[in-house]
Formats: sequence, C-alpha cells, structure tokens
Amino acid sequence: PADPRTPALGLADAVRQGDRRALARAITLIESTRPDHRAQAEALLDALLPHTGNSVRVGISGVPGVGKSTFIEAFGLHVIGLGHKVAVLAIDPSSQRTGGSILGDKTRMVELSRNAGAFIRPSPAGATLGGVARRTREAMLVCEAAGFDVIVVETVGVGQSETAVADMVDLFLLLLLPAGGDELQGIKKGIVELADLVVVNKADGDLVAAARHAVAEYRHALAFLKPAVPDWRVPVLSCSAATNSGIDAVWATIGEHRAVGERSGARDARRAEQAGAWLWSEIRETLIDAFRAHPAVRTALPELEGRVRGGSLVPTAAARSLLERFRGG
Ligand code: GDP
Repeated sequence: PADPRTPALGLADAVRQGDRRALARAITLIESTRPDHRAQAEALLDALLPHTGNSVRVGISGVPGVGKSTFIEAFGLHVIGLGHKVAVLAIDPSSQRTGGSILGDKTRMVELSRNAGAFIRPSPAGATLGGVARRTREAMLVCEAAGFDVIVVETVGVGQSETAVADMVDLFLLLLLPAGGDELQGIKKGIVELADLVVVNKADGDLVAAARHAVAEYRHALAFLKPAVPDWRVPVLSCSAATNSGIDAVWATIGEHRAVGERSGARDARRAEQAGAWLWSEIRETLIDAFRAHPAVRTALPELEGRVRGGSLVPTAAARSLLERFRGG
C-alpha cells in the first residue's frame, strides 16, 4: 500500500507554488487532531521546513477595542503596497470556551481579506492554549513556505496568550489606548515588559493630546526596564489606524529592529531559543495527553484528585501514585 503520507508531499508542492486553496487545506490539515492527519501534517512540515524562516514575524496584542483589527488592516495594506505578502494568524483562547471567537468575527479586516497579497486565518479551536499555539506556529511555517514574508500573529489582550505569541515571533508589538496607566487600560501585569515595540493607537481628532501624554508616560516607564534585547531600547510610537497616520513609522521601526537583531545575532538566538522551547512544550503536551488517556490513570484520577482537593491526600503522593500506574504499562 502507498505511504499514507504521500499526499502531503503533493500538497507541499502546491503550497510552495503559492496555491491559495492548498495553503488553506494545509492549515486545515495541521489543525486536525486525527492521528492520520497528524502524520500527514508532520510529513508536510518536514517537506516545507527548508523553505521557512524567511519572514518578519510580528506579534500584535492589545485589549479588545484598542484597534487591533483596524491597525492590522492598515498595516497589512501598507506593507503589501511596499511589495510584501502578509499572512495574519490569530490566537484566541476564548474561541474554545464560547464557541465563538473574538478574533474570528467575519466583519474584521474586510479590505485586507480581499487583497491578493494577504492571507487571513482565524484562531483554530483547540483544547488548550498550548494546542492552539502549536498549530499557529505550524501555520506560520506553512505561510512562510508559501511565500508570505510578513507574518502577523494577533492575540486578544486577555489571558496567557500574549506570552505564547511573544514566544513565537521576532517582535512583539503592544497596542495601547491613548489613556494613562496599565490598570486603567486593563493591561495584565507583565505584558508591557514583553513588548519590543509599543504603539499608542487612536492618535487622532480629540485624542491627539491624550496620545502624546500616553507616549510620554510609557517612554518614562519603559526607561526603567532592562532591555530584553541588547542594543534595543523599546520605542514608544503613536499612530492612527483609522486615518493611516504613523503606520509607515511602525513598519520602519520593525525594519530597524530586524536590522539590529540580524547584526547582533539576537534574532537567530531568539528563534533558536523558541524552537527549543517549542520542542519541550510539544513533549509536555504529548506526555500529558498520553497520561490523561491512560486507562489505569483515568480510573484512579477522579478519586485521587478528589482527595487532594479535599485535603486528605498530599499532591506529591497522588502524583506519584498516578505516575506509577502510568509507568505500569
Ligand atoms: P480590536 O478589538 O482591538 O480589534 O479593535 P477594532 O479594530 O475592532 O477597533 C475598535 C474600535 O476602535 C472601532 O470602533 C474602531 O473603529 C475604533 N478605532 C480603531 N482604530 C482607531 C483609530 O486609529 N482612531 C480612532 N479614533 N478609532 C479607532
């Protein structure tokens, strides 16, 4: 019988030739949890890997309403105008809980989605943030192999997804409102520290002065942070996604960050670090899935977990007992 992975190689060729439907099919394959699909997805990624890595990977986050989709549309169209191809992927862990995704809304980025230079993919539904992040990483590689040289990974400004996004991109861009203070803006603790670039959006009309004030405030706050990347002081810019002003400066700054990172080796070091961390998260996810699916573990888990929660069993002892069952075969 033919190797079940052979179709993946035909798909890989079609993806590399820029076939849109093949790209969409490849990502659907990656998102599937069926074991035979996983085998095909791995064969596909294996074939595409030598053709990946040639993009600028930008993560974008910000609280709902800050203007992410408006910004990505303006930014995407600007960058396409300069001759690039832009893929927009989303990480939205809320899509598993509610069934409806905040980022999956069809009315978002209408003009960009119609543009031949753009490819937009909403967040996959998956069991865990880890699962969603894994598929987004893989989708990023597929988009790169398909010739997209700017990848935007968008996330909602809630939950843990920002860290997952920062861990898969070259540059993490945080969009802010023209208002003061993280707490006022509903930004979770530690998120500003993840940013490689901070942009205050909505710097237009009545909000121009507030935006200028917010820029000054964040410049001041960030001056006290130790830079995560050598030779890179996190810039604070302002823009108006609605009127398209300042978008060019954001793109220029992303270019500077890339140049600095390529010169110092920080970009490649970050990607190597990310690939290593991805390996371990893959191992963790796979082990935990196997653990949860193990019959002897499944039988004992409810009672042991109940006793741990009830305070009659120490978690270490419960874990050891479960792991012994798991190792038992
Ligand atoms: P998201 O939830 O972060 O994706 O935000 P949206 O892009 O959906 O924008 C939220 C609201 O802010 C919408 O009503 C937009 O029209 C508005 N908005 C987005 N960008 C700007 C901007 O640059 N200036 C102004 N004044 N409004 C904006």
